[in-house]
Amino acid sequence: MLTDNHGRHINYLRLAVTDRCNLRCFYCMPEKGNVWLERKDLLSFEEMLRLCRLAVTMGIEKIRITGGEPFVRKGIMAFLTDLSNTKGLNELTITTNGVLTAPLVPELKKIGIKSVNLSLDTLDRDRFLAITHRDELANVLATMEALLRHGLEVKLNAVVMEGQNIQDILPLVQLTKNNKVTVRFIEEMPFNGGETHYPTLNWDHKKIYDTIHGAYPGIEKLSDPEYSTSYNYHIPGHTGNVGIIAAFTRSFCGTCNRLRITPQGILKTCLYQGGGTDIRQIIRQKPDNDTLRQALLTAISHRAKDGYEAERNRLAGGIHESMATIGG
Ligand code: SAM
Ligand code: SF4
Repeated sequence: MLTDNHGRHINYLRLAVTDRCNLRCFYCMPEKGNVWLERKDLLSFEEMLRLCRLAVTMGIEKIRITGGEPFVRKGIMAFLTDLSNTKGLNELTITTNGVLTAPLVPELKKIGIKSVNLSLDTLDRDRFLAITHRDELANVLATMEALLRHGLEVKLNAVVMEGQNIQDILPLVQLTKNNKVTVRFIEEMPFNGGETHYPTLNWDHKKIYDTIHGAYPGIEKLSDPEYSTSYNYHIPGHTGNVGIIAAFTRSFCGTCNRLRITPQGILKTCLYQGGGTDIRQIIRQKPDNDTLRQALLTAISHRAKDGYEAERNRLAGGIHESMATIGG
């Protein structure tokens, strides 16, 4: 079992396999001028497989593949197949924007993927275009439909943004009426790769809840699973559920069970951490497993208490990171 310096159990790894993306969600990266990592700077599939398998022997039970958009990386399906065959790995999941995913759903199911997080901030084509700078809503909806048809668990992630998709909160909640989906509203975080950030968060988890509660006064609190980052709810008569993720307010740090590896191989022990342990540099020296294991253990034993401490420790001061290089 992996335990950090604050006694928290760590069993979940989020692996971002690319920084590239076929959307340009404004809250994640700029529309133009993105400088992508060169291929040589990305962890190779072999390196990622070695790291994941070692992490599983150390106590990681669940791995989520994220990015950037995982499905824009060539060779991803073969990698997922290899990774899914890792002994001791209980759960392999993916976070995707759904643009390329619909035709791959049968294969994902065959590989053994049971649950997919799909990002969807609006059901309106024009607002989708305004948020993501790409006219791809139809493909994302096709992915949702394919996931449901093939019986995969679907969690929809919607970032709540002042002036952008507030009018979508209730239509997204309404999706849970007849569909077996959990719609999760996420507080916007300051990781858009640029310098424009709201000084305060207008739409925090309380305001999101009040909005939903106003329309559905009968909404009931569900008990939250261990390590859950979302407050979970059910509306009587609905098939699916609703979640709210206080990602900016950071109310979940006390039970945080996750590690992150960025596309260039930086191990982050907190979403808000600036920098991290350069695992790529270590793994390219062809270390034995003990050395690699020690590098992971050292990082875990220097973990910030919470996202506020991690943020204070950021060296550069300003936050100009893109979520696509962190993985969400
Ligand atoms: N491209 C995939 C996708 O969009 O689902 C995976 C990577 S994306 C970085 C992972 C998650 O992070 C998405 O659900 C996205 O909505 C969320 N995200 C990105 N930037 C964010 C921000 N500034 N605040 C809150 N969530 C953010
Ligand atoms: Fe791409 Fe996902 Fe970032 Fe949107 S949130 S730009 S889909 S990586």
